[in-house]
Amino acid sequence: MNEIKRHYNLSQLHTFRLPAKAESVTFLTSSEQVAQIPADAYVIGGGSNTIFLSDITRPLVCIRIKGIDVKEEAQHWRVKVGAGENWHQLVLFLNSNGIDGFENLALIPGTVGAAPVQNIGAYGRDISEFIYSVRVWDRRSKSLSNFSNEDCRFGYRDSIFKQNPMRWLILEVEFLIPKAWQPELSYGELKALEEPISAKDILDKVISIRSAKLPDPNVLPNAGSFFKNPVVSQKKFESLAARFPTIPHFNLPNNEVKLAAGWLIDNLNLKGFSIGDASVHKQQALVLVNNGKATGADVLNLAQHIKISVYDAYGIELEAEVRLLDEKGLISL
Ligand SMILES: Cc1cc2nc3c(=O)[nH]c(=O)nc-3n(C[C@H](O)[C@H](O)[C@H](O)COP(=O)(O)OP(=O)(O)OC[C@H]3O[C@@H](n4cnc5c(N)ncnc54)[C@H](O)[C@@H]3O)c2cc1C
Repeated sequence: MNEIKRHYNLSQLHTFRLPAKAESVTFLTSSEQVAQIPADAYVIGGGSNTIFLSDITRPLVCIRIKGIDVKEEAQHWRVKVGAGENWHQLVLFLNSNGIDGFENLALIPGTVGAAPVQNIGAYGRDISEFIYSVRVWDRRSKSLSNFSNEDCRFGYRDSIFKQNPMRWLILEVEFLIPKAWQPELSYGELKALEEPISAKDILDKVISIRSAKLPDPNVLPNAGSFFKNPVVSQKKFESLAARFPTIPHFNLPNNEVKLAAGWLIDNLNLKGFSIGDASVHKQQALVLVNNGKATGADVLNLAQHIKISVYDAYGIELEAEVRLLDEKGLISL
Protein backbone atom coordinates (compact mmCIF):
# COMPACT_ATOMS: atom_id res chain seq x y z
CA MET A 1 0.00 0.00 0.00
CA ASN A 2 1.08 3.57 -0.63
CA GLU A 3 1.90 5.38 2.58
CA ILE A 4 0.08 8.72 2.92
CA LYS A 5 1.20 11.40 5.41
CA ARG A 6 -0.77 14.55 6.27
CA HIS A 7 0.58 18.05 7.06
CA TYR A 8 4.08 16.87 6.27
CA ASN A 9 7.09 19.08 6.95
CA LEU A 10 8.75 19.52 3.54
CA SER A 11 12.08 20.61 4.98
CA GLN A 12 12.67 16.84 5.27
CA LEU A 13 11.88 16.27 1.59
CA HIS A 14 13.99 18.88 -0.21
CA THR A 15 17.66 19.70 0.14
CA PHE A 16 17.13 23.50 0.32
CA ARG A 17 15.13 22.80 3.50
CA LEU A 18 12.73 25.75 3.51
CA PRO A 19 10.11 25.36 6.26
CA ALA A 20 7.14 24.58 3.99
CA LYS A 21 4.36 22.07 4.68
CA ALA A 22 2.33 19.82 2.37
CA GLU A 23 -1.29 18.93 3.09
CA SER A 24 -0.64 15.38 1.94
CA VAL A 25 2.36 13.37 0.74
CA THR A 26 2.00 9.90 -0.78
CA PHE A 27 5.08 7.68 -0.75
CA LEU A 28 4.81 5.48 -3.85
CA THR A 29 6.69 2.23 -3.24
CA SER A 30 5.34 0.10 -6.09
CA SER A 31 4.42 0.82 -9.70
CA GLU A 32 1.30 -1.33 -9.22
CA GLN A 33 -0.25 1.42 -7.12
CA VAL A 34 0.45 4.25 -9.52
CA ALA A 35 -3.15 4.46 -10.77
CA GLN A 36 -4.19 5.68 -7.31
CA ILE A 37 -2.06 8.82 -7.61
CA PRO A 38 -4.22 11.96 -7.97
CA ALA A 39 -3.93 13.55 -11.44
CA ASP A 40 -2.92 16.95 -10.01
CA ALA A 41 -0.19 15.61 -7.70
CA TYR A 42 3.31 17.05 -7.99
CA VAL A 43 6.06 14.40 -8.12
CA ILE A 44 9.40 14.47 -6.36
CA GLY A 45 12.25 12.05 -5.86
CA GLY A 46 14.98 13.27 -3.49
CA GLY A 47 13.98 16.96 -3.69
CA SER A 48 17.53 18.02 -4.60
CA ASN A 49 16.46 20.05 -7.62
CA THR A 50 13.22 21.39 -6.17
CA ILE A 51 12.57 24.28 -3.80
CA PHE A 52 9.27 24.57 -1.93
CA LEU A 53 8.86 28.32 -1.54
CA SER A 54 5.65 28.10 0.51
CA ASP A 55 3.13 25.63 1.90
CA ILE A 56 1.70 23.34 -0.76
CA THR A 57 -1.99 22.53 -0.98
CA ARG A 58 -1.81 20.25 -4.01
CA PRO A 59 -1.00 16.59 -3.23
CA LEU A 60 2.64 15.55 -3.39
CA VAL A 61 3.97 12.15 -4.47
CA CYS A 62 7.36 11.00 -3.38
CA ILE A 63 8.74 8.18 -5.56
CA ARG A 64 10.26 5.38 -3.49
CA ILE A 65 10.16 2.45 -5.98
CA LYS A 66 13.25 0.27 -5.46
CA GLY A 67 15.03 -2.52 -7.33
CA ILE A 68 18.13 -3.04 -9.48
CA ASP A 69 18.20 -5.78 -12.12
CA VAL A 70 21.43 -6.42 -14.07
CA LYS A 71 21.62 -8.60 -17.21
CA GLU A 72 24.82 -9.37 -19.06
CA GLU A 73 24.67 -9.33 -22.87
CA ALA A 74 27.42 -9.88 -25.44
CA GLN A 75 28.35 -6.20 -25.84
CA HIS A 76 26.47 -4.48 -23.02
CA TRP A 77 25.16 -4.55 -19.49
CA ARG A 78 21.40 -4.04 -19.41
CA VAL A 79 20.46 -2.51 -16.06
CA LYS A 80 16.85 -1.79 -14.99
CA VAL A 81 16.49 0.39 -11.93
CA GLY A 82 13.46 1.48 -9.87
CA ALA A 83 12.88 5.24 -10.00
CA GLY A 84 13.24 5.61 -6.23
CA GLU A 85 16.77 4.22 -5.99
CA ASN A 86 19.40 6.72 -4.87
CA TRP A 87 21.51 7.88 -7.82
CA HIS A 88 24.92 7.94 -6.13
CA GLN A 89 24.35 4.53 -4.52
CA LEU A 90 23.62 3.15 -8.01
CA VAL A 91 26.89 4.63 -9.33
CA LEU A 92 28.80 2.97 -6.44
CA PHE A 93 26.97 -0.33 -6.92
CA LEU A 94 27.77 -0.48 -10.64
CA ASN A 95 31.39 0.50 -10.13
CA SER A 96 31.92 -2.12 -7.43
CA ASN A 97 30.45 -4.75 -9.79
CA GLY A 98 32.83 -3.88 -12.64
CA ILE A 99 30.17 -2.06 -14.70
CA ASP A 100 31.89 1.11 -15.80
CA GLY A 101 30.58 4.29 -17.40
CA PHE A 102 28.73 6.22 -14.68
CA GLU A 103 31.82 7.25 -12.69
CA ASN A 104 31.82 10.88 -13.94
CA LEU A 105 28.28 11.23 -12.56
CA ALA A 106 29.17 10.25 -8.98
CA LEU A 107 27.83 12.22 -6.03
CA ILE A 108 24.95 13.86 -7.91
CA PRO A 109 22.20 13.89 -5.28
CA GLY A 110 18.70 12.57 -5.93
CA THR A 111 16.95 9.58 -7.40
CA VAL A 112 17.28 7.48 -10.54
CA GLY A 113 13.78 8.52 -11.68
CA ALA A 114 14.73 12.20 -11.74
CA ALA A 115 17.93 11.56 -13.73
CA PRO A 116 16.21 11.54 -17.17
CA VAL A 117 14.06 14.57 -16.27
CA GLN A 118 16.88 17.07 -16.57
CA ASN A 119 19.28 14.64 -18.28
CA ILE A 120 21.75 14.90 -15.42
CA GLY A 121 25.31 15.54 -16.40
CA ALA A 122 28.74 16.29 -15.00
CA TYR A 123 32.39 16.15 -16.04
CA GLY A 124 31.70 15.64 -19.73
CA ARG A 125 29.02 12.94 -19.45
CA ASP A 126 25.22 13.18 -19.73
CA ILE A 127 23.06 10.29 -18.58
CA SER A 128 21.20 10.29 -21.92
CA GLU A 129 24.28 8.51 -23.37
CA PHE A 130 23.28 5.39 -21.40
CA ILE A 131 19.47 5.49 -21.26
CA TYR A 132 17.83 2.81 -23.36
CA SER A 133 14.24 3.32 -22.22
CA VAL A 134 12.13 4.93 -19.52
CA ARG A 135 9.01 3.24 -18.10
CA VAL A 136 6.28 5.78 -17.37
CA TRP A 137 2.75 6.18 -16.14
CA ASP A 138 0.87 8.63 -18.35
CA ARG A 139 -1.54 10.57 -16.19
CA ARG A 140 -3.43 11.84 -19.23
CA SER A 141 -4.22 8.46 -20.83
CA LYS A 142 -3.99 6.57 -17.53
CA SER A 143 -1.71 3.94 -19.05
CA LEU A 144 1.81 2.56 -18.77
CA SER A 145 4.30 2.89 -21.63
CA ASN A 146 8.00 2.78 -22.48
CA PHE A 147 9.83 5.76 -23.94
CA SER A 148 12.84 5.03 -26.13
CA ASN A 149 15.91 7.24 -25.82
CA GLU A 150 14.74 9.19 -28.87
CA ASP A 151 11.22 9.62 -27.44
CA CYS A 152 12.73 11.31 -24.38
CA ARG A 153 13.99 14.25 -26.54
CA PHE A 154 17.06 14.78 -24.42
CA GLY A 155 18.90 18.08 -24.55
CA TYR A 156 21.23 20.01 -22.25
CA ARG A 157 19.54 19.61 -18.81
CA ASP A 158 16.34 19.00 -20.70
CA SER A 159 13.91 16.30 -21.81
CA ILE A 160 10.28 15.78 -22.72
CA PHE A 161 9.62 15.10 -19.01
CA LYS A 162 11.01 18.47 -18.00
CA GLN A 163 8.93 20.20 -20.68
CA ASN A 164 5.71 18.50 -19.45
CA PRO A 165 6.14 18.38 -15.68
CA MET A 166 2.60 17.23 -14.80
CA ARG A 167 2.13 14.47 -17.34
CA TRP A 168 4.36 11.42 -16.75
CA LEU A 169 5.52 9.61 -13.65
CA ILE A 170 8.81 7.81 -14.23
CA LEU A 171 8.70 4.37 -12.64
CA GLU A 172 11.83 2.66 -13.94
CA VAL A 173 14.87 3.51 -16.07
CA GLU A 174 16.63 0.97 -18.29
CA PHE A 175 20.29 1.64 -19.01
CA LEU A 176 22.41 0.01 -21.72
CA ILE A 177 26.05 0.28 -20.71
CA PRO A 178 28.73 -0.75 -23.25
CA LYS A 179 31.24 -3.30 -21.95
CA ALA A 180 33.92 -1.59 -24.06
CA TRP A 181 34.56 1.17 -21.53
CA GLN A 182 36.07 4.49 -22.64
CA PRO A 183 37.24 6.95 -19.98
CA GLU A 184 35.85 10.48 -20.34
CA LEU A 185 38.61 12.85 -19.26
CA SER A 186 37.96 15.89 -21.41
CA TYR A 187 36.47 18.09 -18.72
CA GLY A 188 38.02 20.40 -16.13
CA GLU A 189 40.21 18.81 -13.50
CA LEU A 190 39.84 15.33 -15.00
CA LYS A 191 42.09 16.49 -17.86
CA ALA A 192 45.08 16.20 -15.51
CA LEU A 193 44.49 12.44 -15.07
CA GLU A 194 46.72 10.26 -17.18
CA GLU A 195 45.93 7.00 -18.90
CA PRO A 196 46.05 4.09 -18.21
CA ILE A 197 43.36 4.78 -15.71
CA SER A 198 40.52 2.79 -14.15
CA ALA A 199 36.89 3.78 -13.69
CA LYS A 200 37.52 3.58 -9.92
CA ASP A 201 40.31 6.19 -10.24
CA ILE A 202 37.88 8.53 -12.02
CA LEU A 203 35.13 7.80 -9.47
CA ASP A 204 37.46 8.65 -6.58
CA LYS A 205 38.66 11.80 -8.31
CA VAL A 206 35.14 13.02 -9.07
CA ILE A 207 34.07 12.36 -5.47
CA SER A 208 37.08 14.22 -4.11
CA ILE A 209 36.66 17.23 -6.46
CA ARG A 210 32.93 17.50 -5.77
CA SER A 211 33.35 17.09 -2.00
CA ALA A 212 35.92 19.90 -1.97
CA LYS A 213 34.01 22.23 -4.30
CA LEU A 214 30.30 21.87 -3.63
CA PRO A 215 28.53 22.53 -0.34
CA ASP A 216 27.07 19.34 1.16
CA PRO A 217 23.29 19.92 1.37
CA ASN A 218 23.25 18.05 4.70
CA VAL A 219 25.55 20.71 6.15
CA LEU A 220 24.54 23.82 4.17
CA PRO A 221 21.13 23.37 2.51
CA ASN A 222 21.21 24.03 -1.25
CA ALA A 223 19.83 22.68 -4.52
CA GLY A 224 23.03 22.54 -6.58
CA SER A 225 23.32 24.83 -9.62
CA PHE A 226 20.51 27.33 -9.33
CA PHE A 227 20.74 28.58 -12.93
CA LYS A 228 21.44 26.84 -16.22
CA ASN A 229 24.58 27.74 -18.14
CA PRO A 230 23.32 30.06 -20.89
CA VAL A 231 23.83 29.28 -24.56
CA VAL A 232 24.39 32.29 -26.85
CA SER A 233 25.09 32.89 -30.54
CA GLN A 234 28.68 33.16 -31.79
CA LYS A 235 28.01 36.86 -32.55
CA LYS A 236 26.81 37.54 -29.01
CA PHE A 237 29.81 35.68 -27.62
CA GLU A 238 32.25 37.76 -29.69
CA SER A 239 30.74 41.00 -28.41
CA LEU A 240 31.04 39.73 -24.81
CA ALA A 241 34.60 38.46 -25.34
CA ALA A 242 35.63 41.92 -26.57
CA ARG A 243 34.48 43.35 -23.21
CA PHE A 244 35.47 40.37 -21.01
CA PRO A 245 38.51 38.70 -22.63
CA THR A 246 38.77 35.99 -19.93
CA ILE A 247 35.14 34.86 -20.20
CA PRO A 248 35.05 31.03 -20.04
CA HIS A 249 33.22 29.45 -22.96
CA PHE A 250 32.57 26.16 -24.66
CA ASN A 251 31.88 26.01 -28.41
CA LEU A 252 28.81 24.02 -29.41
CA PRO A 253 27.68 22.82 -32.82
CA ASN A 254 25.31 25.19 -34.73
CA ASN A 255 27.55 28.23 -34.13
CA GLU A 256 26.45 28.48 -30.51
CA VAL A 257 28.54 29.02 -27.41
CA LYS A 258 27.84 27.84 -23.85
CA LEU A 259 28.87 30.26 -21.10
CA ALA A 260 29.44 29.57 -17.40
CA ALA A 261 26.58 31.12 -15.40
CA GLY A 262 28.77 30.88 -12.26
CA TRP A 263 31.45 33.04 -13.88
CA LEU A 264 28.91 35.65 -15.02
CA ILE A 265 27.63 35.93 -11.43
CA ASP A 266 31.06 35.82 -9.82
CA ASN A 267 32.37 38.51 -12.17
CA LEU A 268 29.73 40.84 -10.65
CA ASN A 269 31.25 40.18 -7.20
CA LEU A 270 28.08 38.49 -5.97
CA LYS A 271 29.75 35.60 -4.11
CA GLY A 272 28.55 35.77 -0.51
CA PHE A 273 25.81 38.32 -1.37
CA SER A 274 22.71 37.73 0.81
CA ILE A 275 19.07 38.66 0.98
CA GLY A 276 17.60 37.68 4.34
CA ASP A 277 19.07 34.28 5.16
CA ALA A 278 19.58 33.17 1.53
CA SER A 279 23.04 33.73 0.01
CA VAL A 280 25.15 33.17 -3.04
CA HIS A 281 27.63 30.54 -1.85
CA LYS A 282 31.02 32.01 -0.90
CA GLN A 283 32.98 29.64 -3.17
CA GLN A 284 30.43 28.64 -5.87
CA ALA A 285 28.58 31.58 -7.38
CA LEU A 286 26.13 29.26 -9.16
CA VAL A 287 24.89 27.75 -5.90
CA LEU A 288 22.43 29.57 -3.64
CA VAL A 289 22.32 28.42 -0.04
CA ASN A 290 19.95 28.54 2.92
CA ASN A 291 21.96 29.72 5.92
CA GLY A 292 19.33 28.24 8.22
CA LYS A 293 16.35 30.56 8.39
CA ALA A 294 15.80 31.54 4.74
CA THR A 295 12.24 32.06 3.56
CA GLY A 296 10.75 31.52 0.10
CA ALA A 297 10.69 35.31 -0.36
CA ASP A 298 14.44 35.54 0.46
CA VAL A 299 15.22 32.93 -2.21
CA LEU A 300 12.99 34.54 -4.85
CA ASN A 301 14.33 38.04 -4.17
CA LEU A 302 17.94 36.83 -4.30
CA ALA A 303 17.37 34.92 -7.54
CA GLN A 304 15.64 37.96 -9.09
CA HIS A 305 18.46 40.23 -8.01
CA ILE A 306 21.02 37.94 -9.68
CA LYS A 307 18.94 37.61 -12.82
CA ILE A 308 18.52 41.39 -13.18
CA SER A 309 22.21 42.07 -12.42
CA VAL A 310 23.33 39.53 -15.04
CA TYR A 311 20.93 40.95 -17.62
CA ASP A 312 22.07 44.52 -16.98
CA ALA A 313 25.75 43.57 -17.23
CA TYR A 314 25.75 41.14 -20.16
CA GLY A 315 22.30 41.25 -21.81
CA ILE A 316 21.80 37.58 -20.93
CA GLU A 317 18.58 36.18 -19.48
CA LEU A 318 19.45 33.49 -16.92
CA GLU A 319 17.02 30.59 -16.63
CA ALA A 320 16.51 28.66 -13.39
CA GLU A 321 17.75 25.06 -13.42
CA VAL A 322 15.96 24.27 -10.15
CA ARG A 323 12.19 23.75 -10.01
CA LEU A 324 10.49 26.42 -7.85
CA LEU A 325 7.10 25.63 -6.34
CA ASP A 326 4.68 27.80 -4.46
CA GLU A 327 1.06 27.21 -3.45
CA LYS A 328 -0.08 27.74 -7.07
CA GLY A 329 2.37 25.21 -8.55
CA LEU A 330 5.57 25.57 -10.59
CA ILE A 331 6.72 29.13 -11.10
CA SER A 332 9.34 30.63 -13.39
CA LEU A 333 11.52 33.55 -12.40
C1 LIG B 1 24.87 19.67 -4.20
C2 LIG B 1 24.15 19.38 -5.50
C3 LIG B 1 24.89 19.10 -6.64
C4 LIG B 1 24.24 18.81 -7.86
N1 LIG B 1 25.00 18.52 -8.96
C5 LIG B 1 24.39 18.23 -10.14
C6 LIG B 1 25.18 17.90 -11.30
O1 LIG B 1 26.40 17.86 -11.26
N2 LIG B 1 24.52 17.63 -12.46
C7 LIG B 1 23.15 17.65 -12.54
O2 LIG B 1 22.63 17.37 -13.63
N3 LIG B 1 22.40 17.95 -11.46
C8 LIG B 1 22.98 18.24 -10.28
N4 LIG B 1 22.22 18.55 -9.18
C9 LIG B 1 20.75 18.60 -9.30
C10 LIG B 1 20.04 17.31 -8.87
O3 LIG B 1 20.87 16.50 -8.10
C11 LIG B 1 19.56 16.50 -10.07
O4 LIG B 1 18.70 17.28 -10.86
C12 LIG B 1 18.82 15.24 -9.64
O5 LIG B 1 18.50 14.46 -10.77
C13 LIG B 1 17.55 15.55 -8.87
O6 LIG B 1 17.04 14.33 -8.34
P1 LIG B 1 15.89 14.36 -7.26
O7 LIG B 1 15.36 12.98 -7.13
O8 LIG B 1 16.38 15.00 -6.02
O9 LIG B 1 14.84 15.30 -8.02
P2 LIG B 1 13.65 16.22 -7.44
O10 LIG B 1 14.19 17.53 -7.01
O11 LIG B 1 12.87 15.42 -6.46
O12 LIG B 1 12.84 16.40 -8.78
C14 LIG B 1 13.43 17.10 -9.86
C15 LIG B 1 12.43 17.18 -11.00
O13 LIG B 1 12.20 15.88 -11.51
C16 LIG B 1 10.81 15.53 -11.38
N5 LIG B 1 10.78 14.13 -10.95
C17 LIG B 1 11.49 13.58 -9.94
N6 LIG B 1 11.25 12.24 -9.90
C18 LIG B 1 10.37 11.98 -10.89
C19 LIG B 1 9.74 10.79 -11.36
N7 LIG B 1 9.97 9.59 -10.81
N8 LIG B 1 8.86 10.89 -12.40
C20 LIG B 1 8.62 12.08 -12.99
N9 LIG B 1 9.20 13.24 -12.61
C21 LIG B 1 10.07 13.19 -11.57
C22 LIG B 1 10.23 16.48 -10.36
O14 LIG B 1 8.86 16.72 -10.61
C23 LIG B 1 11.08 17.72 -10.60
O15 LIG B 1 10.55 18.44 -11.68
C24 LIG B 1 22.83 18.83 -7.93
C25 LIG B 1 22.08 19.11 -6.77
C26 LIG B 1 22.73 19.38 -5.57
C27 LIG B 1 21.92 19.66 -4.33
